[in-house]
Parts: sequence; C-alpha cells; structure tokens
Amino acid sequence: MLKGKVALITGATRGIGKAIALKFAENGADIALNYRRDNEDLKNLVRELECKGVKVLPVQGDVAILEDANRIVKETVEGLGKLDILVNNAGITKDGLIIRMKEEDFDSVINTNLKGTFNTVKAATSIMMKQRSGKIINISSVVGLVGNAGQSNYSASKAGIIGLTKSIARELGGRGINVNAIAPGFIQTDMTEVLPDKLKESMETSIPLKKLGNPEDVANLALFLGSNLSDYITGQVIAVDGGMTMN
Ligand code: NDP
Repeated sequence: MLKGKVALITGATRGIGKAIALKFAENGADIALNYRRDNEDLKNLVRELECKGVKVLPVQGDVAILEDANRIVKETVEGLGKLDILVNNAGITKDGLIIRMKEEDFDSVINTNLKGTFNTVKAATSIMMKQRSGKIINISSVVGLVGNAGQSNYSASKAGIIGLTKSIARELGGRGINVNAIAPGFIQTDMTEVLPDKLKESMETSIPLKKLGNPEDVANLALFLGSNLSDYITGQVIAVDGGMTMN
C-alpha cells in the first residue's frame, strides 16, 4: 500500500509511533524514525524495520525545538530522497488539577504536543507543496474533543492540534496535501501504563467495545490515512476509541 513512499514518524521509538513505523514498513514505506535519546530499544527497532526490506533512517531531535524540527525534515529528505507522509505522534502528559498545575507543566505539554506539531508541519510544508502531494497525520486525542479532569494542559494541546489540522487542511488542499487527525481513546502504552488498575478496569466497562485499544488499532487508521485510499479525505478527526466518544 505504501511502496515507494517515504514516511517520517515523530516520537517513533515506542508505543503508537513504533506501531505506525512497523505497519508502514510492512506496507513498503521507507521510514525516517525520529527519536530523542539513542538507546537499545531504538537499535532493536531499526533492526526490526530493516528486516522488512525497507530503508530506515533514525533522525535524532526534539520536536518542541523549531531548529530540530527543521533538521529532522531536512535529514529525512537528504537521506531518503523525499517526504510523502508526516506523522506527528510525539507527545507527553504532565497531569494535574488546574489549581495545582505548574506553569512549566502547562508550557512543556503545549510545546511538545501542539508547537511540536506546528514545527514539523511548517518544516514539511514547503517540500510537500513543491511535490504537490503529501499526507499529514496528526495524533490528537479524544480528550481534545471532550476534555478530561486533570488534563487541562494535555486536552488544550490536543484540541489545538484539531484546530491546526483543520486550518492547514484548508490551506494545503489545493496543493494535493491531505491533513487529518487521529483521536485515540485509551490505548495500552507506557503513557497509560502508569494509571491505576482501578481506573483502567472502570474505563474498560464504560467503553462500548468493552476493551482498551492497542497501538496497532491506531496504526491501522494511520495506514489508511497515509495511503491513496484516503485521497478524498481531509480536515477530519477520526476517533479510534472503541466507541467511547460516539455522539
Ligand atoms: P509513549 O509515551 O509511549 O511514547 C511517546 C513517544 O513520544 C516516545 O517515543 C517519546 O520519546 C516521544 N517524544 C516525547 N516528546 C518528544 C519530543 N519533544 N520530541 C521527540 N519525541 C518525543 O506515548 P503513546 O505511544 O501512548 O502516545 C503517542 C501519541 O498518541 C502521543 O501524541 C499521545 O498524546 C497520543 N495519544 C495516546 C493515547 C494513549 O492512550 N496511549 C490516547 C490518545 C492520544 P522518548 O522515548 O524520548 O520519551
């Protein structure tokens, strides 16, 4: 489905980003794998991806820093020849009730999740505009749609990503660039591993499909949005949440 395509995935060393990298590689895309810190997990993932017969380029950088984002995109194009699909996946949480939330916890979540997305989109846009094609997939969250007590910083960043997605979808549609957002619900990764078991159990019973999601559930939608199957879809926010937020 993605043979001949080049995809850049931010924050790709674990969780949802890793699942997307594997799914894209299984479908033939060459992968630029953004990471912050070199470690054994990264080396193992690179080997795993290379076994699928595609080119893999690890690109170090912090998406919250504009110069890093510019360099990440530049190294991708220099190393793999072009950029067809950008997946803005890197994200962090720093939860707390608003009354106790520190300014730096608000700023760092906004800077990584929202500004990080802006940074890489800005860096990738000129390349995709020249190509007159591209797919941008931004990972938002259901809490960007419905909010969540204790996550005002994170919800604001994820709601911001939805506004950003819709605006740039309008700006870039005429250039053959599709921009969509995925809103995952409760997906089992390191990010949600830290939550109390009681909360996970109560989530499970309240979700219409009666189970938590896996990173691969999100990767399946990313594959569709990264492929030509989604050519007439832009500016959409699609939930992968077991029915949690259905209207
Ligand atoms: P993880 O915490 O498992 O992984 C996050 C990844 O992002 C890590 O690879 C991390 O790198 C990377 N990262 C964080 N900050 C930066 C940065 N500034 N620059 C580059 N990379 C960075 O999270 P998930 O896989 O669960 O989440 C992936 C995305 O999905 C996030 O945007 C998250 O908000 C979103 N999401 C997740 C949900 C869930 O239930 N899990 C639900 C809804 C949305 P490092 O290893 O260096 O920390």
